[in-house]
Amino acid sequence: MRRRRKSSHAWVYVIWGLNGVILLVVLVVAVLYTTSLRASAADEALPTAAPLPTREIPPTSYFLPTLTPNPLYTPPVFETSTPFELADGPRPAIIGFSLAARPIEAYTFGAGEKKYLIVAGIHGGYEWNTIALANELITHINENPGAIPTDVTLYIIRNMNPDGEARSHDVDGRVNNNGVDLNRNFPSENWTEEWDRDGCWIYRPTTGGAHAGSEPETRSVMGFVKTHRIDALISYHSAALGVFPGGVPWEEPSKQLAKALSKATGYPYPPIDTGCEYTGTLADWAVENGVGAAVDMELRNHRDTDFEENLQALQVFLNFQP
Ligand SMILES: [Zn+2]
Repeated sequence: MRRRRKSSHAWVYVIWGLNGVILLVVLVVAVLYTTSLRASAADEALPTAAPLPTREIPPTSYFLPTLTPNPLYTPPVFETSTPFELADGPRPAIIGFSLAARPIEAYTFGAGEKKYLIVAGIHGGYEWNTIALANELITHINENPGAIPTDVTLYIIRNMNPDGEARSHDVDGRVNNNGVDLNRNFPSENWTEEWDRDGCWIYRPTTGGAHAGSEPETRSVMGFVKTHRIDALISYHSAALGVFPGGVPWEEPSKQLAKALSKATGYPYPPIDTGCEYTGTLADWAVENGVGAAVDMELRNHRDTDFEENLQALQVFLNFQP
Protein backbone atom coordinates (compact mmCIF):
# COMPACT_ATOMS: atom_id res chain seq x y z
CA MET A 1 0.00 0.00 0.00
CA ARG A 2 2.69 2.45 0.99
CA ARG A 3 4.86 1.41 -1.99
CA ARG A 4 2.01 1.88 -4.52
CA ARG A 5 1.14 5.35 -3.25
CA LYS A 6 4.75 6.37 -3.35
CA SER A 7 5.21 5.14 -6.97
CA SER A 8 1.95 6.83 -8.23
CA HIS A 9 3.16 10.17 -6.72
CA ALA A 10 6.46 9.84 -8.58
CA TRP A 11 4.64 9.41 -11.91
CA VAL A 12 2.58 12.54 -11.27
CA TYR A 13 5.78 14.52 -10.67
CA VAL A 14 7.42 13.13 -13.82
CA ILE A 15 4.37 13.92 -16.03
CA TRP A 16 4.03 17.48 -14.67
CA GLY A 17 7.73 17.97 -15.06
CA LEU A 18 7.58 16.85 -18.70
CA ASN A 19 4.57 19.16 -19.29
CA GLY A 20 6.56 22.06 -17.90
CA VAL A 21 9.57 21.34 -20.10
CA ILE A 22 7.41 21.01 -23.25
CA LEU A 23 5.57 24.23 -22.43
CA LEU A 24 8.90 26.04 -21.98
CA VAL A 25 10.23 24.72 -25.29
CA VAL A 26 7.02 25.78 -27.10
CA LEU A 27 7.25 29.28 -25.57
CA VAL A 28 10.93 29.70 -26.53
CA VAL A 29 10.23 28.56 -30.10
CA ALA A 30 7.25 30.93 -30.36
CA VAL A 31 9.31 33.90 -29.10
CA LEU A 32 12.19 33.13 -31.48
CA TYR A 33 9.79 32.79 -34.40
CA THR A 34 8.03 36.14 -33.87
CA THR A 35 11.38 37.90 -33.41
CA SER A 36 12.67 36.50 -36.69
CA LEU A 37 9.43 37.60 -38.44
CA ARG A 38 9.93 41.18 -37.23
CA ALA A 39 13.55 41.16 -38.32
CA SER A 40 12.68 39.96 -41.81
CA ALA A 41 9.89 42.56 -42.05
CA ALA A 42 12.42 45.22 -41.09
CA ASP A 43 14.78 43.89 -43.77
CA GLU A 44 12.05 44.24 -46.35
CA ALA A 45 11.29 47.79 -45.21
CA LEU A 46 14.88 48.87 -45.86
CA PRO A 47 15.09 51.03 -49.01
CA THR A 48 16.20 49.01 -51.99
CA ALA A 49 15.42 51.67 -54.62
CA ALA A 50 17.97 52.35 -57.33
CA PRO A 51 20.28 55.32 -56.59
CA LEU A 52 18.88 58.69 -57.68
CA PRO A 53 20.49 60.28 -60.75
CA THR A 54 23.36 62.56 -59.78
CA ARG A 55 23.08 66.26 -60.57
CA GLU A 56 25.81 68.82 -61.23
CA ILE A 57 25.75 71.32 -58.38
CA PRO A 58 27.41 74.72 -58.81
CA PRO A 59 30.55 75.26 -56.72
CA THR A 60 28.71 77.18 -54.03
CA SER A 61 25.52 75.79 -52.52
CA TYR A 62 23.73 78.39 -50.50
CA PHE A 63 21.26 76.39 -48.44
CA LEU A 64 23.07 73.26 -47.32
CA PRO A 65 21.97 72.35 -43.79
CA THR A 66 24.61 71.25 -41.28
CA LEU A 67 23.83 67.91 -39.64
CA THR A 68 25.61 68.53 -36.37
CA PRO A 69 25.00 71.88 -34.74
CA ASN A 70 28.33 73.65 -34.54
CA PRO A 71 28.68 75.98 -31.54
CA LEU A 72 30.89 78.30 -33.63
CA TYR A 73 28.41 78.42 -36.54
CA THR A 74 26.38 81.57 -36.98
CA PRO A 75 23.24 80.88 -39.01
CA PRO A 76 22.87 83.20 -42.00
CA VAL A 77 20.13 85.78 -41.72
CA PHE A 78 17.94 85.72 -44.81
CA GLU A 79 16.40 89.08 -45.44
CA THR A 80 13.03 89.30 -47.04
CA SER A 81 12.57 90.80 -50.45
CA THR A 82 12.03 94.57 -50.20
CA PRO A 83 8.29 95.07 -50.60
CA PHE A 84 7.04 97.55 -53.17
CA GLU A 85 3.48 98.44 -53.97
CA LEU A 86 1.92 101.53 -55.48
CA ALA A 87 -0.62 102.89 -53.00
CA ASP A 88 -2.74 104.15 -55.89
CA GLY A 89 -1.81 102.92 -59.33
CA PRO A 90 -1.62 99.98 -61.71
CA ARG A 91 -0.97 96.50 -60.36
CA PRO A 92 1.99 94.72 -61.91
CA ALA A 93 1.61 91.67 -64.12
CA ILE A 94 3.42 88.58 -62.82
CA ILE A 95 5.55 87.32 -65.70
CA GLY A 96 7.12 84.36 -63.89
CA PHE A 97 8.57 83.12 -60.62
CA SER A 98 12.04 82.78 -59.15
CA LEU A 99 13.43 79.44 -57.93
CA ALA A 100 12.08 80.27 -54.45
CA ALA A 101 8.68 81.06 -56.01
CA ARG A 102 8.94 84.83 -55.59
CA PRO A 103 6.97 86.66 -58.30
CA ILE A 104 8.75 88.57 -61.07
CA GLU A 105 6.65 91.66 -61.76
CA ALA A 106 6.23 93.89 -64.82
CA TYR A 107 4.58 97.32 -64.68
CA THR A 108 3.02 98.79 -67.83
CA PHE A 109 2.62 102.52 -68.55
CA GLY A 110 1.06 104.02 -71.65
CA ALA A 111 -0.49 102.18 -74.58
CA GLY A 112 1.46 103.37 -77.63
CA GLU A 113 2.81 101.42 -80.59
CA LYS A 114 6.50 101.74 -79.67
CA LYS A 115 7.52 99.43 -76.89
CA TYR A 116 10.34 100.04 -74.44
CA LEU A 117 11.52 97.81 -71.62
CA ILE A 118 13.53 98.56 -68.48
CA VAL A 119 14.90 95.58 -66.51
CA ALA A 120 16.35 96.16 -63.03
CA GLY A 121 17.87 93.90 -60.41
CA ILE A 122 19.29 91.21 -62.71
CA HIS A 123 22.18 91.00 -60.23
CA GLY A 124 19.89 90.93 -57.21
CA GLY A 125 20.84 92.38 -53.87
CA TYR A 126 24.41 93.09 -55.02
CA GLU A 127 22.87 95.78 -57.25
CA TRP A 128 19.81 96.50 -55.08
CA ASN A 129 19.99 100.23 -55.91
CA THR A 130 18.86 99.44 -59.48
CA ILE A 131 15.67 97.99 -57.94
CA ALA A 132 15.33 101.10 -55.78
CA LEU A 133 15.69 103.22 -58.95
CA ALA A 134 13.02 101.18 -60.73
CA ASN A 135 10.68 101.71 -57.76
CA GLU A 136 11.34 105.47 -57.90
CA LEU A 137 10.70 105.57 -61.66
CA ILE A 138 7.46 103.59 -61.28
CA THR A 139 6.27 105.95 -58.54
CA HIS A 140 7.27 109.03 -60.57
CA ILE A 141 5.58 107.86 -63.78
CA ASN A 142 2.44 106.91 -61.89
CA GLU A 143 2.26 110.47 -60.50
CA ASN A 144 3.29 112.05 -63.83
CA PRO A 145 1.67 110.07 -66.65
CA GLY A 146 2.77 112.80 -69.10
CA ALA A 147 6.31 111.36 -68.78
CA ILE A 148 5.22 108.68 -71.27
CA PRO A 149 4.83 109.96 -74.88
CA THR A 150 1.45 109.07 -76.40
CA ASP A 151 2.98 106.72 -79.00
CA VAL A 152 4.90 104.74 -76.34
CA THR A 153 4.32 101.78 -74.04
CA LEU A 154 6.89 101.42 -71.27
CA TYR A 155 7.36 98.17 -69.35
CA ILE A 156 9.40 98.03 -66.15
CA ILE A 157 10.51 94.68 -64.70
CA ARG A 158 11.56 96.05 -61.33
CA ASN A 159 13.30 93.04 -59.77
CA MET A 160 14.44 90.23 -62.05
CA ASN A 161 16.32 88.32 -59.33
CA PRO A 162 14.16 88.57 -56.20
CA ASP A 163 15.88 85.61 -54.46
CA GLY A 164 19.27 87.31 -54.76
CA GLU A 165 17.76 90.53 -53.47
CA ALA A 166 16.20 88.71 -50.52
CA ARG A 167 19.45 86.88 -49.69
CA SER A 168 21.79 89.83 -49.22
CA HIS A 169 22.49 93.41 -50.28
CA ASP A 170 26.13 92.46 -50.70
CA VAL A 171 28.27 90.21 -52.91
CA ASP A 172 26.27 87.16 -51.73
CA GLY A 173 23.13 88.64 -53.26
CA ARG A 174 24.34 88.66 -56.89
CA VAL A 175 23.46 85.18 -58.16
CA ASN A 176 20.13 83.35 -58.16
CA ASN A 177 19.39 80.38 -55.86
CA ASN A 178 21.25 78.00 -58.22
CA GLY A 179 24.39 80.14 -57.95
CA VAL A 180 23.92 81.29 -61.56
CA ASP A 181 24.84 84.76 -62.84
CA LEU A 182 21.58 85.57 -64.66
CA ASN A 183 23.32 88.07 -66.94
CA ARG A 184 25.40 85.14 -68.28
CA ASN A 185 22.50 82.71 -68.60
CA PHE A 186 20.75 84.10 -71.73
CA PRO A 187 21.03 81.92 -74.85
CA SER A 188 22.98 84.45 -76.89
CA GLU A 189 25.33 83.08 -79.55
CA ASN A 190 28.32 83.42 -77.22
CA TRP A 191 26.77 81.70 -74.14
CA THR A 192 29.21 79.59 -72.11
CA GLU A 193 28.92 77.89 -68.74
CA GLU A 194 32.44 79.00 -67.75
CA TRP A 195 34.64 81.93 -68.75
CA ASP A 196 38.09 83.36 -68.14
CA ARG A 197 37.81 85.38 -64.92
CA ASP A 198 40.53 87.88 -65.89
CA GLY A 199 39.09 91.37 -65.43
CA CYS A 200 35.71 89.94 -64.39
CA TRP A 201 33.73 89.83 -61.13
CA ILE A 202 35.40 87.20 -58.91
CA TYR A 203 34.06 87.66 -55.38
CA ARG A 204 31.96 84.48 -55.28
CA PRO A 205 31.85 81.28 -57.35
CA THR A 206 29.21 81.38 -60.07
CA THR A 207 28.39 79.87 -63.46
CA GLY A 208 26.47 80.72 -66.63
CA GLY A 209 24.01 77.92 -65.83
CA ALA A 210 23.82 74.20 -66.65
CA HIS A 211 22.71 75.25 -70.13
CA ALA A 212 21.75 78.51 -71.84
CA GLY A 213 18.42 79.77 -70.50
CA SER A 214 18.44 77.19 -67.70
CA GLU A 215 17.05 79.50 -65.00
CA PRO A 216 13.36 80.33 -64.46
CA GLU A 217 14.17 84.04 -63.96
CA THR A 218 15.93 84.12 -67.35
CA ARG A 219 13.09 82.28 -69.08
CA SER A 220 10.51 84.67 -67.57
CA VAL A 221 12.23 87.68 -69.16
CA MET A 222 12.83 85.80 -72.44
CA GLY A 223 9.14 84.94 -72.64
CA PHE A 224 8.18 88.54 -71.95
CA VAL A 225 10.53 89.98 -74.59
CA LYS A 226 9.44 87.45 -77.22
CA THR A 227 5.74 88.20 -76.72
CA HIS A 228 5.97 92.01 -76.58
CA ARG A 229 7.94 93.07 -79.70
CA ILE A 230 10.28 95.36 -77.73
CA ASP A 231 11.89 98.25 -79.66
CA ALA A 232 14.57 99.13 -77.12
CA LEU A 233 15.77 97.85 -73.76
CA ILE A 234 17.82 99.09 -70.81
CA SER A 235 19.17 96.50 -68.35
CA TYR A 236 20.25 98.37 -65.21
CA HIS A 237 23.38 97.42 -63.25
CA SER A 238 25.79 98.95 -60.75
CA ALA A 239 28.42 100.12 -60.58
CA ALA A 240 30.55 102.62 -62.43
CA LEU A 241 31.68 100.99 -65.66
CA GLY A 242 29.32 102.90 -67.96
CA VAL A 243 26.93 101.95 -70.76
CA PHE A 244 27.51 98.71 -72.73
CA PRO A 245 25.81 98.30 -76.13
CA GLY A 246 24.28 94.93 -77.05
CA GLY A 247 25.62 92.71 -79.81
CA VAL A 248 28.84 90.80 -80.48
CA PRO A 249 30.38 92.94 -81.85
CA TRP A 250 28.33 95.91 -80.61
CA GLU A 251 25.46 96.68 -82.99
CA GLU A 252 25.09 100.19 -84.41
CA PRO A 253 21.60 101.03 -83.01
CA SER A 254 22.70 99.85 -79.54
CA LYS A 255 25.83 102.01 -79.80
CA GLN A 256 23.64 105.01 -80.69
CA LEU A 257 21.39 104.32 -77.69
CA ALA A 258 24.41 103.91 -75.39
CA LYS A 259 25.88 107.23 -76.59
CA ALA A 260 22.57 109.06 -76.07
CA LEU A 261 22.11 107.62 -72.57
CA SER A 262 25.73 108.40 -71.67
CA LYS A 263 25.16 112.02 -72.69
CA ALA A 264 22.02 112.25 -70.53
CA THR A 265 23.55 110.65 -67.43
CA GLY A 266 27.28 111.29 -67.55
CA TYR A 267 27.93 107.52 -67.31
CA PRO A 268 31.00 106.55 -69.37
CA TYR A 269 30.72 105.67 -73.05
CA PRO A 270 32.60 103.80 -74.37
CA PRO A 271 32.34 101.80 -71.14
CA ILE A 272 35.43 101.14 -69.05
CA ASP A 273 37.22 98.06 -70.40
CA THR A 274 38.44 95.86 -67.54
CA GLY A 275 39.40 93.06 -69.95
CA CYS A 276 36.40 90.95 -68.98
CA GLU A 277 34.65 89.00 -71.71
CA TYR A 278 30.86 89.12 -71.24
CA THR A 279 28.89 86.06 -72.38
CA GLY A 280 25.18 85.19 -72.33
CA THR A 281 24.03 88.73 -71.45
CA LEU A 282 20.44 89.93 -71.67
CA ALA A 283 21.44 92.82 -73.99
CA ASP A 284 23.29 90.54 -76.44
CA TRP A 285 20.47 88.00 -76.50
CA ALA A 286 17.87 90.78 -76.96
CA VAL A 287 19.47 92.29 -80.09
CA GLU A 288 19.98 88.79 -81.51
CA ASN A 289 16.24 88.17 -81.01
CA GLY A 290 14.52 91.13 -82.59
CA VAL A 291 14.95 93.96 -80.05
CA GLY A 292 16.04 97.07 -81.99
CA ALA A 293 18.59 98.33 -79.47
CA ALA A 294 19.70 97.19 -76.02
CA VAL A 295 22.20 98.33 -73.41
CA ASP A 296 23.58 97.35 -70.01
CA MET A 297 23.71 100.61 -68.04
CA GLU A 298 25.56 100.93 -64.73
CA LEU A 299 24.71 103.34 -61.92
CA ARG A 300 27.63 105.22 -60.34
CA ASN A 301 27.91 103.15 -57.16
CA HIS A 302 26.13 100.42 -55.17
CA ARG A 303 24.21 102.91 -52.99
CA ASP A 304 22.59 105.78 -54.91
CA THR A 305 19.82 105.61 -57.49
CA ASP A 306 21.05 108.68 -59.48
CA PHE A 307 17.36 109.48 -59.89
CA GLU A 308 17.65 112.88 -61.63
CA GLU A 309 20.16 111.59 -64.18
CA ASN A 310 18.00 108.56 -64.91
CA LEU A 311 14.89 110.68 -65.29
CA GLN A 312 16.80 112.50 -68.06
CA ALA A 313 17.83 109.12 -69.44
CA LEU A 314 14.18 107.99 -69.44
CA GLN A 315 13.15 110.91 -71.68
CA VAL A 316 16.02 110.17 -74.09
CA PHE A 317 15.19 106.45 -74.05
CA LEU A 318 11.46 106.88 -74.74
CA ASN A 319 12.21 109.16 -77.72
CA PHE A 320 14.92 106.91 -79.15
CA GLN A 321 14.28 105.37 -82.58
CA PRO A 322 16.41 102.28 -83.15
ZN1 LIG B 1 25.40 93.79 -62.74
